[in-house]
Amino acid sequence: YQAKARGGGCSAFFDVDLRTRVQRHMELEQDLRHAVHQDQLWVAYQPVVDLRVDRTVAVEGLLRWQHPAHGPIPPGEFIPVAEESDLINSVSAHMLHTATRQVATERERHQLDLVLNANLSPRQLDDPGLQALVQHALADSGLPGRALCLELTEEAIMHDPAAAARVLNTLRELGVSLAIDDFGTGYSSLAQLRRLPLDTLKIDRSFITDLVESDELRIIVTSVVTMAHGIGLEVVAEGVETAQQLDFLGSIGCDHVQGYYLSKPTPLAELAASLPHAWTS
Ligand code: C2E
Ligand code: CA
Ligand code: CA
Ligand code: CA
Repeated sequence: YQAKARGGGCSAFFDVDLRTRVQRHMELEQDLRHAVHQDQLWVAYQPVVDLRVDRTVAVEGLLRWQHPAHGPIPPGEFIPVAEESDLINSVSAHMLHTATRQVATERERHQLDLVLNANLSPRQLDDPGLQALVQHALADSGLPGRALCLELTEEAIMHDPAAAARVLNTLRELGVSLAIDDFGTGYSSLAQLRRLPLDTLKIDRSFITDLVESDELRIIVTSVVTMAHGIGLEVVAEGVETAQQLDFLGSIGCDHVQGYYLSKPTPLAELAASLPHAWTS
């Protein structure tokens, strides 16, 4: 933001807007520094339901920040702030340690085979300490590697696919599985993804929203499911909000669904108690 702030030649209106945004960014960065230590960050979980057995098989951990003055700040706002500073490492480490511990506890309490899905930011792929971070989180929590799935975006992988493949292989050594997140929003093709050690493909919400109204989207989503299966990937459809979307996805053999129709992201304990597709009976 420093380079942008120095750039001249803007209208007065733009300068005011820019100054507000720069101030907000700097303020968030300052506050985020304390948030980790002051227990303001917590993890919400959204179930991933296996359509074949009609059961929650995984939960995606989504970071939440309860700011003492501004209230809840969405991850879409503070993750980029963390990524542009050195904070992404401590925030990610905190998230992974918290989530692996919570899911390991829930697995033991209910004797479940529940998987934790956790998001990796693009910058973490360049971090030489990534494998050690994941290894420590697994060791500290007792969560087995096979119960962790790390989600990466196309953007993170496609910027240097060969380097990404090396990093992904070091993660696989820990027994974790790997998913490509937000598929369809970047520039990767299944032909490129085929070369990477991936297990799961998550179709971005933007393809699911208008599924029922659009012939084209139904054709696209059907082909993605077929092609993903053809190269050995399981498929998760994200952003499922209606029964019609769910029915269609089931009819084309989509393996898993995730979305508000099943549950919004919530604290793990609440999820276990209230889910229609709960793992406890
Ligand atoms: P994402 O990984 O694609 O996560 C899914 C987002 O879609 C979540 O937003 C979730 O609340 C939302 N969502 C789920 N189902 C529905 C639905 O049916 N309808 C609609 N409209 N939205 C739905 P959220 O929690 O605000 O997270 C936004 C993004 O922030 C995530 O997108 C992810 O990229 C990032 N993020 C969240 N937690 C972390 C984290 O711990 N680490 C990193 N690096 N990024 C994170
Ligand atoms: Ca995700
Ligand atoms: Ca996603
Ligand atoms: Ca997304």
